[in-house]
Amino acid sequence: MGKIIAVANQKGGVAKTTTAINLGAALALESKKVLLVDTDPQANLTSGLGFPKEGLPTTIYDLLVEGHDGEGILETEIPGLWIIPSTVDLAGAEIELVMLPERELRLKRALLPIKKNYDYILIDSPPSLGLITLNGLAAADSVLIPIQCEYYALEGVTQLMNTINLVKTRLNPDLKIEGVVLTMFDGRTNLSIQVVEEVKSYFRGLVFRTVVPRNVRLSEAPSYGKPIFLYDPKCRGAEVYLELAREVVERNEK
Ligand code: ADP
Ligand code: MG
Repeated sequence: MGKIIAVANQKGGVAKTTTAINLGAALALESKKVLLVDTDPQANLTSGLGFPKEGLPTTIYDLLVEGHDGEGILETEIPGLWIIPSTVDLAGAEIELVMLPERELRLKRALLPIKKNYDYILIDSPPSLGLITLNGLAAADSVLIPIQCEYYALEGVTQLMNTINLVKTRLNPDLKIEGVVLTMFDGRTNLSIQVVEEVKSYFRGLVFRTVVPRNVRLSEAPSYGKPIFLYDPKCRGAEVYLELAREVVERNEK
């Protein structure tokens, strides 16, 4: 039975999408069957894997709003890695969802019949705590929280934890924290080092050993529509996401 992991943090630019793409690709390279689900109207995960943000026949919009289950799955260039793409049309879905029955549980329902076909399903979330993110948290077995090693790294984390707790009480009592991954670490700055300490003292054992450094190749890859392993497989960013994948597998298979 596949494990559904929501990659979430309502802050923008913390590497949710970069982590979803490259952790997903790394898990596939580790011989896992992986489905990536893009639930962000910005569709950066979709375009980051080389698909258009507009004009695809079936997208996450159809699953969430129209109630089509398990459709629209596309193959990627990495064997073992599939995607349910997003679309810019999803921007209106937040409002359309409000009117629909079981509005928080629509993604859960859509993924239910296909969950068994994968080892891991990673949901990339938009930068908000709105209905789409709630759908991701309600559908997930666990949440993976990327935190950028920057000023105000922990800003908004209390809100995120409150939302996770609310989801646990109301929608998904078994929701766990998969872990916290520190991103865009720069070992030359005291700030990065301080942030690591702060985040570790807040989240304790939940922080992954693997810390993702700032790596230019990781920021270039999406404009070529490729995960890091097809763009520059020897760069530090590629190595680190493979390490993170092994750590995720270790946490789940022990
Ligand atoms: P989010 O999905 O949380 O908004 P993104 O994954 O889109 O964040 O990342 C924000 C920006 O930072 C993007 O331009 C991305 O390419 C870049 N980025 C992400 N991780 C790294 C990294 N480790 N090193 C350098 N740039 C990165
Ligand atoms: Mg994103």
